[in-house]
Amino acid sequence: MFFKKVVKSKSELRYDIINKDWVVVAEGRGKRPEDFKKKKTDEAIDNMPCAFCDYFAQEKFRDKNFVVIPNKFPAFFPQKNNLLKTDNALFQRLPSNGFHEVVVFNDHSKQLTDFSQIDWEELLGIYQQRYTELSKEKIVNYVSIFHNHGKMAGASLIHPHSQIIAIPFFDKDLSISLNSSREFFKEKSQCLFCATNRAEKSVQTRIVFENSNFLAICPFASKVNFEVVISPKNHLPYFEKITKEEKSDLAQIFGEVLKKIGYGLEFPDYNFYLHTSPCDDKEYSFFHWHFTIMPRISVWAGFELGSGIEIITMPPEKAAEYLRKIKI
Ligand SMILES: [Zn+2]
Ligand SMILES: [Zn+2]
Repeated sequence: MFFKKVVKSKSELRYDIINKDWVVVAEGRGKRPEDFKKKKTDEAIDNMPCAFCDYFAQEKFRDKNFVVIPNKFPAFFPQKNNLLKTDNALFQRLPSNGFHEVVVFNDHSKQLTDFSQIDWEELLGIYQQRYTELSKEKIVNYVSIFHNHGKMAGASLIHPHSQIIAIPFFDKDLSISLNSSREFFKEKSQCLFCATNRAEKSVQTRIVFENSNFLAICPFASKVNFEVVISPKNHLPYFEKITKEEKSDLAQIFGEVLKKIGYGLEFPDYNFYLHTSPCDDKEYSFFHWHFTIMPRISVWAGFELGSGIEIITMPPEKAAEYLRKIKI
């Protein structure tokens, strides 16, 4: 169910000329600097009346499991122009053109760890359907699908929801991942992710769960404790082309892995996000889509922020062994 409404807010992209990266400055409606004081931020989240529950109070949405709505405070929204503004060579801005949607779950207190196989299949179907629709938009070259659960993961509302952002460009992280995959393919005539999955299968120590079509592993060089990557066993560059059978297997493995993390680690906050081939009509047959789940058990400290080198305290082999043993 998609609920269409044009929303406007103050938002722009600014170019970080030092790190060669873009950031979004999206001014929350009516927010004052004082609203960012720590105590106020926590209180605001805890005491906020739930706007999402209001949707499902309406007759037409009452029986739906999910509703897709435009984000009330979008980081990206459709704009008339897409022109670069240069204050001077050091200060460059772009309108934050694109789409920012929220997939809201019906039940305020039902988390993904409570989801049945059917719930998961429906949610993945919505991701696929919205991906397909948004990728048809002329200005859209990349669609990002992600889910924030809990304050430590950046969720500003308790009510469970995923987000979909469709934008004209993709970020540095995905560029690096695409470039490594392209180079590996050129050199070895095989996919980097397929090769990694084969190696993980022979080593076995970092496997968390697997079914016919998917493999879940704690990556060899995990960036956070208990990080899990779920990827297809077959070489698949485009998430939106997922079949019914693959969706059913993805639903199963996603449910199992999140439950293992939840039951095993006392339901920590977490993020997950999809990395798939951009929809900019270029060739990405070398890429392999995957979901990354990042539990928010510890926060990044100065060294991580200053050097870009993450320190983890739980070796991925031990994390995988622990999660493997958690009974659902
Ligand atoms: Zn709610
Ligand atoms: Zn592959």
